[in-house]
Amino acid sequence: MENEKYHLECFECGKVVADGYTNACPEGHDSLLRTEYKAKRLRKLSGQGMFNYIDWLPVEEALPTSASPITCRSERLGKELGLKNLYIGFNGYWPEKGAFMKTCTFKELEALPTLQRAKEKSGGKILVVASAGNTSRAFAEVSSATGMPVVAVVPRSSLHRMWTTTENHDNIFLISVDGDYSDAIAVGKEIAKMDGLIEEGGVRNVARRDGMGVVELEAAFSMHELPDYYFQAVGSGTGAIAAWETFGRLIGDGRFGDKMPRIVISQNLPFVPLVSAWQAGRAEIIADKDMKDAEDAIKKMYADVLSTRNPPYSIKGGVYDMLMSTKPLQGLRGRGAEPHSGKMYGITNEECKDAEKLFVGEEGIDLDPAASVAVASLIKAVDDGSVKKDDKILLNITGGGYKRLRADCKMYEIEARMELQPSEHLALDDVEKELREFVRAL
Ligand SMILES: *Cc1c(COP(=O)(O)O)cnc(C)c1O
Ligand SMILES: [Zn+2]
Repeated sequence: MENEKYHLECFECGKVVADGYTNACPEGHDSLLRTEYKAKRLRKLSGQGMFNYIDWLPVEEALPTSASPITCRSERLGKELGLKNLYIGFNGYWPEKGAFMKTCTFKELEALPTLQRAKEKSGGKILVVASAGNTSRAFAEVSSATGMPVVAVVPRSSLHRMWTTTENHDNIFLISVDGDYSDAIAVGKEIAKMDGLIEEGGVRNVARRDGMGVVELEAAFSMHELPDYYFQAVGSGTGAIAAWETFGRLIGDGRFGDKMPRIVISQNLPFVPLVSAWQAGRAEIIADKDMKDAEDAIKKMYADVLSTRNPPYSIKGGVYDMLMSTKPLQGLRGRGAEPHSGKMYGITNEECKDAEKLFVGEEGIDLDPAASVAVASLIKAVDDGSVKKDDKILLNITGGGYKRLRADCKMYEIEARMELQPSEHLALDDVEKELREFVRAL
């Protein structure tokens, strides 16, 4: 494996694995695999969108794209909050600032390298992606733009999120499920077992994590150093795990400082399983305690893309490990001993909307509801004194620019090819037949 660009390594046992679209340790550990790249010093190329950072993406070749996160120093919001060093990592459509992600969320950073990795490493299998909408839309957009086929599974209530900015939907097989996000995931799992298809892998897929890590890479090159704090709204926590891994790699690079940023993540009340488990000091999520009345709670959320019911919290290398290991050096800030350093906030709908109004007013671009959760968490951290005015802060705006996009682009709704019942009533034979025809027509 010596000459390979990268290999995979199990967080638990350190076993080295050559990538065959491998998403689990061959020893069977309940652990994430992570990429180890041969290049320790990162190059930034130009003209290739997010693939400017291909050194640290688990693909051999770049896909043609202009999609990339941008980082800009916030003048107005920073001033409003009394923060001198607030940087915004923006994922979405904001052409005035050089942001051209037409799916308007950072899920596009996952979709591009994941589809490419599947093409290179899975032996030509077709990816099955299940999501509450933003992930599936990102994969659909890339599919539509590149012709790489994808099977997307979404809950019926998320169908309105399924559109692309190009008209060709020939290679997208969209399935709507009469249920919620978790039902869609269960259906996706069943379908992915069919011949010629492969499960995309979620948090276990290194292309998804390293793809989202481009937000931190772009920020590091733009800020010339690592931030003191990183703020993000989380559903699964995959993006925050990605940030943690990427900061670690950047520390290894040597040019951006050697201090792991404190990672501050937030969820939207009343559905906040990660906040609930973390604040109780537990390494496990207990459904009866952390997700009581889940269905009702999810219906009340302003940012329902954050409604993941089975986030990778306890898994080795997951959210709990991430929060535990972003501890500052003892006494660094003279704030006394803190039990943990990673931090979580639960944000009410009202706090979201207030934060959104403030952000839109100061920065002039519209937000995905999930991004407003992150903005609200930053406001809370300022209010409770967790961050100080000189701290260097990276605020990950995980999605935005939908309104801006509408002024420039047409949105083509994707029609569902099948409507299915949740797993227990699933008519798999029908699905198989339809999928076979879809594959034949590709
Ligand atoms: C998916 C999503 C998130 C949450 O990301 P996770 O990696 O699941 O924690 C946040 N914001 C937006 C806009 C998203 O689409
Ligand atoms: Zn292992």
